[in-house]
Amino acid sequence: MANVELINVNKKYPNGYHAVKNVNLNIANKEFMVFVGPSGCGKTTTLRMIAGLEEVTEGQIFIGDKLVNDVSPKDRNIAMVFQNYALYPHMTVYDNMAFGLKLSKTPKEEIKERIDWASEILGIKELLKRKPKQLSGGQRQRVALGRAIVRKPQVFLMDEPLSNLDAKLRVQMRSELIKLHKDLETTFIYVTHDQTEAMTMGSRICVMNDGEIQQVDDPRVIYNAPANLFVAGFIGAPQMNFFDGTLIEGNSLDVYGIRYELPENLKKAVKEKGKNDSKVIVGIRPEDVYLTDEEGLKSKVEFTELLGSDLNVYFNIDGKQYILRTEHSVNLRMGDYINIKFNEAKLHLFDIETKKSLIY
Ligand code: ATP
Repeated sequence: MANVELINVNKKYPNGYHAVKNVNLNIANKEFMVFVGPSGCGKTTTLRMIAGLEEVTEGQIFIGDKLVNDVSPKDRNIAMVFQNYALYPHMTVYDNMAFGLKLSKTPKEEIKERIDWASEILGIKELLKRKPKQLSGGQRQRVALGRAIVRKPQVFLMDEPLSNLDAKLRVQMRSELIKLHKDLETTFIYVTHDQTEAMTMGSRICVMNDGEIQQVDDPRVIYNAPANLFVAGFIGAPQMNFFDGTLIEGNSLDVYGIRYELPENLKKAVKEKGKNDSKVIVGIRPEDVYLTDEEGLKSKVEFTELLGSDLNVYFNIDGKQYILRTEHSVNLRMGDYINIKFNEAKLHLFDIETKKSLIY
C-alpha cells in the first residue's frame, strides 16, 4: 500500500512532442484515482511513467517514500492491467496467474494460496484449467485482474481495462472493480476516456486536456463546480449548454433579454473578480433548464430523445443547438415552440478570456 506523488512531471517524446506538461499530483494511499480526458490528452503516458514503462523527461515520481524515476518496472511493486488483457494464449488461467509469481521465485505453495484467494474474490475458481480462448471477454478481463491481484502490489494501474467489453458487462465490471478496490484496500489508478466510468468509479477524478491537469477533485465537485470551460463541457452527458451572457451591476445576468438574479456565491465571485458589468460565458446543464408558461426564452424543438424516465429536448437558438432534460411524460414534438428558463441556483459563469470559472 502506498501513495503516489508526481512532482513537475513532464514527458517529451523523442520527436519533440510535449505529451505531459508540469503534472503535480498526490494520489493518496488506498485512493481510487481516475485519469479522464479526450484521446491524446496524455493519460496513458502519465500512467506508463508511473509504471516505469516510459521514461520521465523532467520531474519526479515517488511511490511511497521512494523516488522511482530510475527504478525498473518490476521493482516498483505495481501491477498493470491493460485494455487488451495480454494473457498468454497457450497457458491455462492458473498458469497465466502464476506466471509473474514464478518469475519472482515465489514458493509453489504460496502461489497456490494466492491464486485460490484471488480466484475466489473474482469468481473465476471454475475457470482455472481453461485456456484464454475458452473464456468470454468478461472472464478474460477477470483473469487479467487476477494476474495483477496475486502479486499483491502496492499500486494497481489500469489502462481502459473495460473498453473491450460490451455495454452491459462494462457496467457490471465497473461495480466489481469498485468492490475489488474496497476489498483489497490498495491504491488504484485508472485511465479512461469515458466520463461516466470516471464519475461512477473514482474517489477522485483527474481531468486532463492537452497534457495538462485541468482539475482534480471529488466527482461531485467536478460536476457541480467545474473549474473551467473544458471540464464543464467534458464532464456530464448530455453536455452542459453554453450561452453568451452579460452581467449587470454584479447582481444579475442577462441572457437573450431574460434576467436572472445571481445566487449569493456568484454575486460574491463576480464582485471579487471585478466583473460587475462584463460579458461572460454562461453554463447551464440540461437538467437545470426548464419549460415555463411565463416569460422565457422562446425556441423551437428540433427533436426529442426519450430515455425511459427522462426526455431530452433539443432546441435551437440563433442556429446553435441546446438541450434540456425534462420528465418523460412531457409531450413535445419536432417543430413545437417552447419557453425556457434557467434554474438560477445552478448557473455557471466563465471568464470569456481565460475560460476559467469565476468561482475559482
Ligand atoms: P488515448 O485515450 O487515445 O489512449 P491518451 O490520453 O492516453 O489517449 P497518450 O497515449 O498518453 O494519450 O498520448 C498523448 C500524446 O502523445 C498523443 O498526442 C500521442 O499521439 C503522443 N504520443 C504517444 N506516444 C508517442 C510516441 N512514442 N512518440 C510521439 N508521440 C507520442
